[in-house]
Amino acid sequence: MSENKTQAFDIKKAAESKIANVDFENLAFGNIFTDHMLYCDYKDGEWGTPVICPYAPIEMDPSSRVFHYGQAIFEGMKAYKDEQDDIWLFRPDENFIRFNKSATRLAMPEVPEEVFMEGLKQLINIDKEWVRKGKGNSLYLRPFMIATGHGVIAAPSAQYRFMIILSPAKSYYTGEVKVLIAEHFSRAANGGIGAAKAAGNYSAQFYPTRLANQQGYQQVIWTDDATHTKLEEAGTMNVFFRINDTLYTAPTSERILDGVTRKSIIDLAKREGINVEVRSVLVDELLAAAKDGSLKEMFGAGTAAVVNPIVGFSYQDTYYELPKQDKPLSLEIKDKLTNIQYKLAEDTFGWTV
Ligand code: PMP
Repeated sequence: MSENKTQAFDIKKAAESKIANVDFENLAFGNIFTDHMLYCDYKDGEWGTPVICPYAPIEMDPSSRVFHYGQAIFEGMKAYKDEQDDIWLFRPDENFIRFNKSATRLAMPEVPEEVFMEGLKQLINIDKEWVRKGKGNSLYLRPFMIATGHGVIAAPSAQYRFMIILSPAKSYYTGEVKVLIAEHFSRAANGGIGAAKAAGNYSAQFYPTRLANQQGYQQVIWTDDATHTKLEEAGTMNVFFRINDTLYTAPTSERILDGVTRKSIIDLAKREGINVEVRSVLVDELLAAAKDGSLKEMFGAGTAAVVNPIVGFSYQDTYYELPKQDKPLSLEIKDKLTNIQYKLAEDTFGWTV
């Protein structure tokens, strides 16, 4: 990581580190944050000096637009430490591009590459002790932007704050994941904001997901809003289906987030000689494949868990259990991908930075 391009950043270091109080063996995801954070304000049509300062609450006017009209976007990515203590990011350019696409869709200003990328690197470098070695350990990086302009006026804000916060993470096992296929609720619609990482996409899912939780399902697999016949994605993951020896995943669209893990799995699986088809899988096809035994695996793919195997799904009050695999393809792919992320395997794709 570059260490000396500090001139454009205003850096105020914390007097003391909180790290000694952190139990790295028992981390709950996204609950603990490192010693520092970054912020950069946008005002009068331009971005100010990025500031790195001790992690602390921020003060905001109650009329700030983000509270009323939800102009808020974010990204989720990770930093990994290899055996030589070098820290690596995985395809951060993809997150940067996606962040600015989200910004444009929410009528927010784009964040300059220097602020986003160099900001990430500077901040991680200052808090580098928080990135722990060992497969499974990582530092979760959360860049986000909120509308800070005053006034309860339903129009885009003129002021914004871009921030980055960092949270140490352990590999997490989510337990057996059973999913419910959406029949009524929708996560996204054509022409909507489903392809953006906008805060509102997540709050809109909470209620239907809670209903699913009450029935014993951890996640909802969303279907297309118009017909509820095409399988799309899950709460914070894209979804893959293995039918016989072919891996299927829906094409990205206005309704589906263009996941970095998804596109990496597609490339990796193809390199491994696995047959991959990017096309919508219909609910009917899934039911038929579950019934005739050709449905072998289903899994979610996203930065947080990398790959999350699904053990069964429910549709129209019927539960379908997936067959147990001796050597699940999902875990083989997860292993190959995480080996690249932790520099335990050669990165022939050039994904690590
Ligand atoms: N879909 C949604 C809705 C998500 O929030 C995420 C997490 N960013 C993903 C898919 C997976 O994307 P990625 O692999 O880039 O984390």
